[in-house]
Amino acid sequence: MNVIHNIMILRKNISEARELGKKIIFIPTMGALHSGHLSMVEAARKRGGDNEKNCIVLSIFVNPLQFGPNEDYQKYPRNLEQDSSLAAEAGVDILFAPPVMEMYPDGKSLTTVNVAELGDCLCGAKRPGHFRGVTTVVSKLFNIVQPDIAYFGQKDYQQYAIIRKMVEDLNFPVQLILAPTVRENDGLAKSSRNVYLDPQQRRQVAVISSSLREAAALIAKGEKNPAVLRDKVSRRITSESDGKIDYIEVRRADDLSSVETIDCGIVIAVAVNFGSTRLIDNVLVEV
Ligand code: AMP
Repeated sequence: MNVIHNIMILRKNISEARELGKKIIFIPTMGALHSGHLSMVEAARKRGGDNEKNCIVLSIFVNPLQFGPNEDYQKYPRNLEQDSSLAAEAGVDILFAPPVMEMYPDGKSLTTVNVAELGDCLCGAKRPGHFRGVTTVVSKLFNIVQPDIAYFGQKDYQQYAIIRKMVEDLNFPVQLILAPTVRENDGLAKSSRNVYLDPQQRRQVAVISSSLREAAALIAKGEKNPAVLRDKVSRRITSESDGKIDYIEVRRADDLSSVETIDCGIVIAVAVNFGSTRLIDNVLVEV
């Protein structure tokens, strides 16, 4: 595996891979790699069988642009050495880990990319500017890496929906793949931020995924009222944990618009604060 910190060197390595007829598969991350990230490397490796030659590029960049002033940019876990060995073991070909000055030489970006509406609701309403930071850095990374295929995790479903819209609206020539959420044994979605939880919080947080599973089961039994589902999820989380609910929303899966009655594919998305740790999760339900 090549570890690259510089955009020009990365471009050179990627064009060499292309000349060998390889497809460029891209997995952007903020590092502190866990099995959620590594499951996408595994899926990328298994793509296309023996006929397809791939070059798997995984980026690690804690993007200052997507953190609010009171968020955890400074304390976000960083461990490039451990991440490098995990990525190499998993089968990554190129690890791209640029310093902030390589991505933002002026210390900021005067040019930004914003997806209206989809970026203003759910987490976007609570974290102003967050998704603009995400879509700006993902645009930059897409322009730098020029991938044929890029993987995003369902754990951050709103992020995926926004990037999908950006790719459509701005004609990025990339195919997006949504990877299923990888979970701990008790259902907690794997996240680099789970290390912030203290033991008591860690025991309680499983209620998030179990309440979402329960809501999905109610839909399967015929429940069509989003308010009933929101209420169920809310009651369970507040009665079984000290979590403070940030939002519980039932939205159309394709464009995140509100639904009055459940008659299409939906996502139930939640954000819950445990102390200063904000956890998100969601379930997709086909109807
Ligand atoms: P992050 O490093 O948290 O910015 O995540 C990088 C990518 O990994 C994003 O596409 C996430 O949605 C995805 N990801 C994070 N956690 C998980 C998980 N538990 N299961 C699947 N994908 C994940």
